[in-house]
Amino acid sequence: MPRLLIATTNSGKLREYAAIFADLPIDLYTLSDLHIKDNVEETGATFAENARIKAEYYARRSGMPTLADDSGLEVAALGGEPGVYSARYAGPEATDAERNAFLLRKLEGVPFHARLARFVCVIALALPSGLIEFVEGVLPGVIEFEPKGHFGFGYDPIFYVLDEDATLAELPPERKNQISHRAHAARAAREVLQRWLAEGKLDL
Ligand code: IMP
Repeated sequence: MPRLLIATTNSGKLREYAAIFADLPIDLYTLSDLHIKDNVEETGATFAENARIKAEYYARRSGMPTLADDSGLEVAALGGEPGVYSARYAGPEATDAERNAFLLRKLEGVPFHARLARFVCVIALALPSGLIEFVEGVLPGVIEFEPKGHFGFGYDPIFYVLDEDATLAELPPERKNQISHRAHAARAAREVLQRWLAEGKLDL
């Protein structure tokens, strides 16, 4: 059976990918399955560059087809910040709650209609031969005036989704996993994998 390394240490992400790829005839492996403990520095200026750095590194390291992603929040009124700095915004030691408070302070006085934002997830699929493809998923929303809800992680409590009339942190995880930027990207990645399967690119 063809194999795919999902290059993440986040068990929540892994479960999401496993669910979306469940009906593909592919055996999924994780970094811990392969005892790979290396950490790759995400030095890219874009989500795609970071996804590429990780996918190419782990494909070479493992000799296996590899999926890696990078994601974050882009706020229009802040020129696309925090972007690739989403995890480190407000300093490397800050908590999720501190990052949310920091972002809300930056948007103080900005009215609802000017608080447009989006979550972006870019997935890179790399083969050890060097072939690489990218797919992207986007979830549009509006930055709330205060945190609401307790599900999820990161910026979920301040990210209001119009179609759901709720923040991402107010949605049950099953619902978030249907509409999220990562779910959209994963469904697009599934199509690449189906094509690669048909073309024999995942055969060893
Ligand atoms: P990474 O792709 O796991 O490195 O995510 C980068 C950062 O973007 C996270 O640490 C969060 O701050 C933010 N982020 C990415 N996806 C989400 C999400 O689904 N909800 C909330 N925050 C997210």
